[in-house]
Amino acid sequence: MTDNVRVRFAPSPTGHLHIGGARTAIYNWAFARHHGGSFVLRIDDTDKERSTDENTQAILRAMRWLGLDWDEGPEVGGDRGPYYQTQRSENYAVALETLKANGHAYPCFCTAEQLEAQRETARTVGGFSGYDRTCRHIQSAEAQERIAAGEPHVWRVKVPDDRGDITIEDAIRGTVTWPIDAMDDFILARTDGTPTYMFATVVDDWQMGITHIIRGDDHLSNTPRQITVYEALEAPVPIFAHMSLIFGPDGKRLSKRHGATSVEAYRDEGILSEALLNYLALLGWSIDDKTTLFDRETLIREFDLSRVSKNPGIWDPEKLEWMNGVYIRDMAVDEFVDRMVPMLVNAGLAAPEIAEHSRDWLRALVPLLAERVRRMIPDEIVPKVRFLFVEFPEMDPASVDKVLAKEGAGTALDEAARLLEALADFSAGPIEEALRQVPEATGVKAKLAFQAVRVAVTGTMVSPPLFESLELLGKVGALARIEKARPLAAE
Ligand code: GLU
Repeated sequence: MTDNVRVRFAPSPTGHLHIGGARTAIYNWAFARHHGGSFVLRIDDTDKERSTDENTQAILRAMRWLGLDWDEGPEVGGDRGPYYQTQRSENYAVALETLKANGHAYPCFCTAEQLEAQRETARTVGGFSGYDRTCRHIQSAEAQERIAAGEPHVWRVKVPDDRGDITIEDAIRGTVTWPIDAMDDFILARTDGTPTYMFATVVDDWQMGITHIIRGDDHLSNTPRQITVYEALEAPVPIFAHMSLIFGPDGKRLSKRHGATSVEAYRDEGILSEALLNYLALLGWSIDDKTTLFDRETLIREFDLSRVSKNPGIWDPEKLEWMNGVYIRDMAVDEFVDRMVPMLVNAGLAAPEIAEHSRDWLRALVPLLAERVRRMIPDEIVPKVRFLFVEFPEMDPASVDKVLAKEGAGTALDEAARLLEALADFSAGPIEEALRQVPEATGVKAKLAFQAVRVAVTGTMVSPPLFESLELLGKVGALARIEKARPLAAE
């Protein structure tokens, strides 16, 4: 069943890639990679008014950023192209000719007013709310004449009366059935000849040899209609897999109300692509009931439609942040450095050359910081390291008040300075040993003694680990800070 898998992701470039679309793309991509099949990217840009090239570029960029490489599609080509719907008019025209010839499509001359009147009757009297099939009964000779005379018309599909109900075995939802008498003779081609989404999608999926259509269940109601088109074209019907949508914590469909929805917005807010990929993959699919963290290779190896959930995934920004923190801790040290340096430069704390001439020093800083960062953004990083890049840190008044103003703080600082001064090896281990002697030597409580040194050298009570920070500052810098802060400390 899963030989020669071909799946597609078919975004409409009416906006940027949002997280729901990204998850659809991830599942299609993972499914293709798992089966050694092809992942096709098609741009459904038939809505000319709302589709823009800028949006298409943003979608491609976001896909690349997430590492979702496609085998056929824009910029990579392929032998089933073109991969933009606006460039496939010829294909739709030919397919429509087939349906005209085999009697599965008919012209409809009903005007907008007539259609509205029909709907009004259905509303008031009740009954079938779709098209009432008036034009289905026009003799073909008459229809030809009216077309030749230039009368405006659309083309509708002729839903077969004798077909029986439409049933699919959805790879996620199981058996789904739609009664045939609820089916509308919907429009295939508009008055201007352009195909509708319903028609173009089927023609493309068929001609592109798509074997599995994995998409959001907002498209479930389109499926029976699309099946009638496949059948009218005598095309094989692919396997459908409808996944549930992503909901916000309030149980409503995820939207801008719940915060950022575009993939690139998350990138700009310091979410790592690996973390977003992991998080989105897990939002509606799982390896088992305990594994939350997995890499790209594991996702590919384990991905299976049978474990995609029928229930909506609930968007949980806290969990995404937590997961991002895990990936930040796992990030290669040099990558962290390369991402941090521009933030330091922008904040005016360092010159770009620091990346080379102080690389080892920056590398040593990373482990102190990575533990405490949940997003790779300046707001998360710069305040935590600022004290290391200035001559003297700005003293936080509350910290001065709570710590340095306490009795004994000055004595502790004096003793700490004396012990640090005497160190030949100014690295974290010996620094710690030295500072541990302060309470005993002075009678000042250990907590206050350490806090006093911390506030003196960093300016605040919350900072990266103290001994490592002192090492990074170096003996001269550390002692100068203690001396400068000393007058603020109580005896
Ligand atoms: N372009 C459609 C969308 O973005 C694709 C629908 C489909 O997957 O069939 O919703």
